[in-house]
Amino acid sequence: MSLVGENLAAIRGRMAQACARSGRDPGSVRLLAVSKSVAAPVIHEAWESGQREFGESRQQEASPKVAELPDAIRWHFIGKLQRNKVRKVLADFQVIHSIDSLRLAEQVDRVAGELELRPEVYLEVNLAGEQSKGGFRSESLGCEMPALASLESLRIEGLMAIPPDEDDPEAMRPWFVRLRELRDELAAATDVSLPGLSMGMSGDFEVAIEEGATLVRVGSAIFGERSVVG
Ligand SMILES: *Cc1c(COP(=O)(O)O)cnc(C)c1O
Repeated sequence: MSLVGENLAAIRGRMAQACARSGRDPGSVRLLAVSKSVAAPVIHEAWESGQREFGESRQQEASPKVAELPDAIRWHFIGKLQRNKVRKVLADFQVIHSIDSLRLAEQVDRVAGELELRPEVYLEVNLAGEQSKGGFRSESLGCEMPALASLESLRIEGLMAIPPDEDDPEAMRPWFVRLRELRDELAAATDVSLPGLSMGMSGDFEVAIEEGATLVRVGSAIFGERSVVG
């Protein structure tokens, strides 16, 4: 088995253990392999080990890889999405995790409508209110939800967050709890169910699963450390 295959098997095992610890069905959590900065042949090794969902954060980098790799791959866009890149992103990606404003959501809805697509999307929440990051503020998402829910070409799957990074995975737990509770509040207050919680990365995916993640985004633990941060 390739090194990537071994890493994937180890991560799937750790995911199953986190599910067992927290009394969750292992089928309720999906692994997104984050392949930014990874070359297509290496992504193909992951495909050969059974991995079917991959995440990329830059459209220009991803596009040639999408063209070269098997059509059955489900591609998730996880990076900052510029409004002028929406059309290209919709051509290559089935899922967008980084809907960070109503304005962007409206743009994606309009272009998806033109292309007769219904992408699955996550609403990115800026949990800590960090100036350096985009995302909906937890306080305002409730007010924006009716407008978001009315966008007919979007299938709003749930919430996504990239909380402030901590070295200790346990220090991330309160952020994951907060995203889950926000989802529960929104689902109770509106008629949007928001089943999906996209949270947890290489350093903390087990804690995220214990707190309700339905999808974890794991890059370096599968493919090794990236030389360029992105
Ligand atoms: C790069 C990235 C990841 C994966 O990070 P790792 O620490 O390598 O697992 C997850 N989510 C987003 C949004 C990313 O940009």
